Amino acid sequence: MTQQITLALSKGRIFEETLPLLEAAAIQVLEDPEKSRKLILATSRPEVRVVLVRATDVPTYVQYGGADIGVAGKDSLIEHGGQGLFRPLDLQIAKCRVSVAVRADFDYAAAVRQGARLRVATKYTSIARDFFAGKGVHVDLIKLYGSMELAPLTGLADAIVDLVSTGNTLKANHLVEVEQIMDISSHLVVNQAALKLKQAPLKRIIDAFAGAIPRG
Ligand code: AMP
Repeated sequence: MTQQITLALSKGRIFEETLPLLEAAAIQVLEDPEKSRKLILATSRPEVRVVLVRATDVPTYVQYGGADIGVAGKDSLIEHGGQGLFRPLDLQIAKCRVSVAVRADFDYAAAVRQGARLRVATKYTSIARDFFAGKGVHVDLIKLYGSMELAPLTGLADAIVDLVSTGNTLKANHLVEVEQIMDISSHLVVNQAALKLKQAPLKRIIDAFAGAIPRG
């Protein structure tokens, strides 16, 4: 009996940049998520299907077996905690960084030097808490779910911790990057039980992905 494999992906950059890796595993996704409202997409291999979930939900789907395998940003993995996940590959895709940014007219260095209590808005509370604790900077964290760039512009926060890729979003909103916290890329994550129960088909996918990781 062929074993069903469910792969969790998020729309956008991760989906687009995973397609060549799937191609290497001889798997073509049969629908374009930007054109369809379907959340479960068939592939050219009847036993493999793709489920579309929010980027931050990929680790949770794989942890609890809603998906056998998934592609998740390191940012999402850190915030999730990584419990119940086997993480065999850094896929080197959807690369960006987590940074601290402030309004161009805010003197971040002076605020840190003076030991001021910073108000920091972010979706990445674990990453931000660890980073500022490591620097000995006192912060009040404000959890947001979207458009963090707006927080310093409205007076909600002094600083944000967010993903930066080209820096264009920061620039368009008169924000400047003052610290780079960590580099981010997406990783392959596998459900630990599935890894034992569906070892052969999962290993084929993992090996094909490993051979197709982009360099540089
Ligand atoms: P950029 O203008 O290229 O610096 O991109 C910044 C915006 O895109 C921010 O709103 C980020 O949250 C988002 N972003 C950048 N890189 C990624 C990524 N790898 N995954 C998800 N969101 C990203």
